Amino acid sequence: MPHPRKAPVIVIDGPAGAGKSTVAREVARRLGLPFLDTGAIYRAITLLMLRENVPPLDSPELRSRLAGFSVSFSGTRVLAGGEDVTEGIRTQEIDRSVSAYSALPVVRESLLGIQRRQAAGGLVAEGRDMGTVVFPDADLKIFLTASAEERARRRCEERAARGEGSEYGEILKQVNARDEIDSNREAAPLKAARDAILLDTTGMPLESVVGEIMGHAGRLAWNGGQ
Ligand code: C5P
Repeated sequence: MPHPRKAPVIVIDGPAGAGKSTVAREVARRLGLPFLDTGAIYRAITLLMLRENVPPLDSPELRSRLAGFSVSFSGTRVLAGGEDVTEGIRTQEIDRSVSAYSALPVVRESLLGIQRRQAAGGLVAEGRDMGTVVFPDADLKIFLTASAEERARRRCEERAARGEGSEYGEILKQVNARDEIDSNREAAPLKAARDAILLDTTGMPLESVVGEIMGHAGRLAWNGGQ
């Protein structure tokens, strides 16, 4: 593992509902680093394409929408082309469609630069291919997993916290379907980088997961932000 003097790039990958966002956000906060939720970017693209009736195929229509796509973050808000899409990208419709768009190489390539530019001053980034494709030289790579049942249960809780109804069996099916597409696609499939630290969070409270990652981060020769 390299020992950065500049602010580190820390990446957290894993399947749907493994707790990546909550954990990565908290690690970023404690280290004083920016946080990048790359799933939100794929979700924002999916929202745009669904609205404009552009199917998940590499077509001139899709390419021209991608060329005009821009995304930015303002605290916990996600802005696409200046519009606040924070809630709009978390619907079940987006959950069902996002993997089909994110499997397209043209979509992934168009986002590489957007993601890498965010890392100039170090960051904590979470997604599916952070450690394998986007930031292969990251200073610390974590791969978070949990049983499919636990991940579905967490997704139900998240939805309930937002005041949305959900049916456990349906969410479990969706979580499995998304993992299946994400893991088996040709372009940047969901998988742990060879040098990632695997962390199975089944039954682990958030605080322990964050504590474990902070322990690894503490071994990087970098003391900024503390
Ligand atoms: O993490 P989240 O559940 O918001 O991700 C939504 C979807 O975006 C994933 O199921 C996956 O299809 C796609 N994604 C991806 N690569 C990433 C992050 C997300 O393909 N780095």
